[in-house]
Amino acid sequence: MADTSRLRHFKDAADYAKNFIIQGEIDKYLPGGRHFIDDALITKLIAEMDSTSADPARVREIIAKSEETCETLLPEETAELMKVTDPGLFEEMRAAADRIKHKVYDNRIVMFAPLYMSNLCVNGCKYCGFREGNSLQKRRVLTMDELKEEIDVLAGRIGHKRLIAVYGEHPSTSTEYIAETIETCYARQVAAPRTGAKVGIRRVNVNAAPLPVEDLKVLRSVGIGTFQVFQETYNRKLYEQMHPAWSVKGNYDWRTTCFHRCLEAGVDDVGLGVLYGLCDWRYELLATILHARDLERWFNIGPHTLSFPRLEPASGTRVPEESPWLIDDATFARILVIARLSVPYTGMIVTARESPASRNKVLDHGMTQLDCSSNIAIKGYSDFESEAHQEKERQQFLLGDNRSIDEMVRYLASRGIITSFCTAGYRCGRTGGCIMDALKTGREGKFCKINAVLTFREWLDDFASDETRKIGDALIDKELAAIKEWLPKFFPSVMKQYEATCRGERDLFF
Ligand code: SF4
Repeated sequence: MADTSRLRHFKDAADYAKNFIIQGEIDKYLPGGRHFIDDALITKLIAEMDSTSADPARVREIIAKSEETCETLLPEETAELMKVTDPGLFEEMRAAADRIKHKVYDNRIVMFAPLYMSNLCVNGCKYCGFREGNSLQKRRVLTMDELKEEIDVLAGRIGHKRLIAVYGEHPSTSTEYIAETIETCYARQVAAPRTGAKVGIRRVNVNAAPLPVEDLKVLRSVGIGTFQVFQETYNRKLYEQMHPAWSVKGNYDWRTTCFHRCLEAGVDDVGLGVLYGLCDWRYELLATILHARDLERWFNIGPHTLSFPRLEPASGTRVPEESPWLIDDATFARILVIARLSVPYTGMIVTARESPASRNKVLDHGMTQLDCSSNIAIKGYSDFESEAHQEKERQQFLLGDNRSIDEMVRYLASRGIITSFCTAGYRCGRTGGCIMDALKTGREGKFCKINAVLTFREWLDDFASDETRKIGDALIDKELAAIKEWLPKFFPSVMKQYEATCRGERDLFF
C-alpha cells in the first residue's frame, strides 16, 4: 500500500501538495513537455466556428461516421457539429444521438446514488462550498458506523445498488480511508422492506482527487468501480485562476494525467467531466475529445463515462452567479447531443443538479445514467426524514431535481425506458478494453437488456409502490418479448433466471 501516512502530518496545504504530487508520473504522459490538451488547436477551431457556418453535407457525413463506427470523432469533426445552428439539422443530430444511445445501451437508464463521505478539503476552488477557509461549512468525515447507517437507507430503504462515493481532498480521507469505505459499502447487507430479501451495494464508483499509481492499485484491490475525477475546466489560464497555486489542485498537469495513471494501475473504468459554466463550453467539449483520444492512443481505452455537471449556487461563493460562461438549458441539450456523437460508446451521466424539466428533456439526447432520491449533505440520507431536505452548509452545491426514485422509475417507464440497477459488467470483468469493443458493436446492449430486466424485477418486488409496480410489470412483459425475438435459443435460460428472481433469489446476472 502506498505510504499515505506521510500526509497525516503535513504543515499546511502547500506542504501537502509538495508531498503528494509525483512529478515523474506526470512527465511520463507528457513526452517532450507537450500537453495533449492542445490549446492552440482548440483556440483555432473556436475562431473558425465564429467565422464560418456549418456545411450540412459535411455534418451528415460526420453523423453517419459516428453512427456506423462508434469511434471517437476528430476534434475538427466535433467542431463542425458545433457550428450547427439550423434547428432542422440539429434535430437530425439529436435523432442520431438517440439512435446511437439505443444501439450501444438499448432503452435503459442506469440508476445510481451519490454518497458524500466528507467535506474536508485542503483545496481552495473558488466556486466550491467545501473549499478550505469557508467557515460557513459544517465539516465532518463519516465514520464507518455512520457509513453503515447511510447504506441502510440507500440500499435498504431506497433500493440503490450502485453508488458514486465522493471524497474531499484531505489527509483524513486518505487512500486507506477510501479503501475502507469501499469495503464497508460492499459488506453491508440489509433486508428489503417488501420482501425481506437481503440487499446491498454492488458497485462503488469513486469521485476523488487524482492519486498516484500505487494508491490507485490499492483501490483496484478492494473492487473500485469507475474512478471519476472532474477536470472542472481544461482551459489552463482559467484553471489557474480558479485553483490557487498553493493547493494540490492548483497543479493542472497532475489532474489532467490522472486517468493515464488509473489505466496504468489497472483501474480501467475512468469517468471524465468538466464543470460547465466556468469556461466556453466549446473549449471544454473539444478538450474532452482530445483527452479521450489521448487515453485511447496510450491504452486503447477511452472514458467509461462522461459527466455534465453545471455550475450551481454554493455556500460562501458568488462565482456560480457571476461567471460569464453560464449555459442555458438549450445549450446544455446541445452539449449532450454533440458529446454523444463525438464519443459514441461512452456512458453519459446527468445528475440531479439539473431541474426535472431539464432532465426530462434530455432523456432522448443520448444520456445513459441518472441519480434519484439523492441527498448530498454529509450523512444526509440517515439524518433527514425527507429525501428532498437540503442544507447548504453541509453540501457542495444545491440539487435541482428532488424526485424520489419511485417517481422517477415510474416516469421513465411511462416513456418506455427501463431503469437498470445492473452492476454485472464490472463483476464479470467487462470493463476497460474488454467492454470497449462490446459497446461499439452493440453487443453490450444485449447483455444489458437482460440484466436490466432481472434487476428491475428485483427492485419492483423489493421497493416499488403498487402504482409503479403496475407500469413496471407491463414494461417487463414488453422487454421479455423483445429478448425472445432477439435471442430465441437463449431465451429459456433468461426465463430460468427471471423466474428465480420472481421467487426471491437475488443478484442473478449474465
Ligand atoms: S471542488 Fe473539490 S477539491 Fe475543490 S474545494 Fe471543492 S471539494 Fe475541494
